[in-house]
Amino acid sequence: MSGINPGDEKLVFEPSEALSVVSTFDNLNLKEDLLRGIHAYNLGKPSAIQQRAILPITQGRDVIAQAQSGTGKTTTLAISVLQSIDVSVRETQALVLTPTRQLATQIQSVVLALGDYMNVQCHACIGGTSIGEDIRKLEYGQHVVSGTPGRVFDMIRRRALRTRNIKMLVLDEADELLDSKESKDLIYDVCRYLPPARQVVLLSTILPYDRDLLEMSTKFMTDPIRILVERDELMPEWINQFFVAVEKEDWKFDKLCDLYDKLTITQAVIFCNTRRKVSNFTVSLLHSKMVQKESDAIMAEFRGGTSRVLITTDARGIDVQQVSLVINYDLPANRENCLYRISRSGRFGRKGVAINLVTVDEVRILRDIEQFYCTRIDETANAAELI
Ligand code: ADP
Ligand code: MG
Repeated sequence: MSGINPGDEKLVFEPSEALSVVSTFDNLNLKEDLLRGIHAYNLGKPSAIQQRAILPITQGRDVIAQAQSGTGKTTTLAISVLQSIDVSVRETQALVLTPTRQLATQIQSVVLALGDYMNVQCHACIGGTSIGEDIRKLEYGQHVVSGTPGRVFDMIRRRALRTRNIKMLVLDEADELLDSKESKDLIYDVCRYLPPARQVVLLSTILPYDRDLLEMSTKFMTDPIRILVERDELMPEWINQFFVAVEKEDWKFDKLCDLYDKLTITQAVIFCNTRRKVSNFTVSLLHSKMVQKESDAIMAEFRGGTSRVLITTDARGIDVQQVSLVINYDLPANRENCLYRISRSGRFGRKGVAINLVTVDEVRILRDIEQFYCTRIDETANAAELI
């Protein structure tokens, strides 16, 4: 994100007024086979951002949608992309760009899952994979391409990725995509190859101010609708939150041990604030000082199910679909982190449970978080039964 300079205030976006809110997937005028896919994945009720963003996107409008992590933005894009393509034409019609290879692959799997009844071809076009294989897959024809800017632009230049039929460009985690000059230049290069009539959709977390998003919107978007989901609507309602209060910090460990047997039934993520605490346990450990390769290996182990419990200090980048339980061994250092953390659970339409271990003194902080997000965190005496 760029810094704020004097006079920049006028560049801050205003949310569009009078947006329609559609509270069920059935009322979004989606294709029958897409709706089947959505219901098969138990997506239940659309989240706040989905209730506001899917309709204008599927109507062809340029949209900037902002909401915090874990509130359903990526799912919004998957649904909108699936709705917008014509599967009888085996040409790339939607291009999704992401800042990381992992996210590009994740989007591919969400598109394929939700589009299970649609016969959709979706390719993850990412660096670090075989170029020959990429070319072969693209030549075969892919309705949707989800990729990182470098490899995607390479494929466009080689004319392996044909852009003629692309009607929609989506930038997921747009704030991060536009954050580095290199990736921003690549995105602008990609844009220049797209048909002039293409629709552009930007999804990002909430930033009070972002010059890059604004620049992108003035250069490449037409009269964009801007959707901002406020914090009282942010807490995903498919996650149930509880807390267990102990008198002393040291007793948290016993409480955790009580829960431990149960933990192996499902996959769980335990969050601690310090690395020291993290290294006291003997399961998959992940912390922010690890080099990428090391943490990738650990995530792969956890994602593959070899290890069932992940203990970590860092919520970002964790997306494991089987996780249905999050334990906050320490309360997050700030309220925003709270959302990142608990949104790691209940992913992919499964109901999730978050259990906070707190000392009696910390209950007040929890109440503050509760109020901030207009959510409910109930005390529980028997946390093991919740799992
Ligand atoms: P974001 O991109 O904002 O971080 P995602 O779209 O990745 O959010 O959604 C976070 C998690 O919540 C995902 O696992 C997703 O499957 C799940 N999810 C999204 N929308 C819904 C919904 N309407 N009902 C239930 N779960 C949902
Ligand atoms: Mg996302």
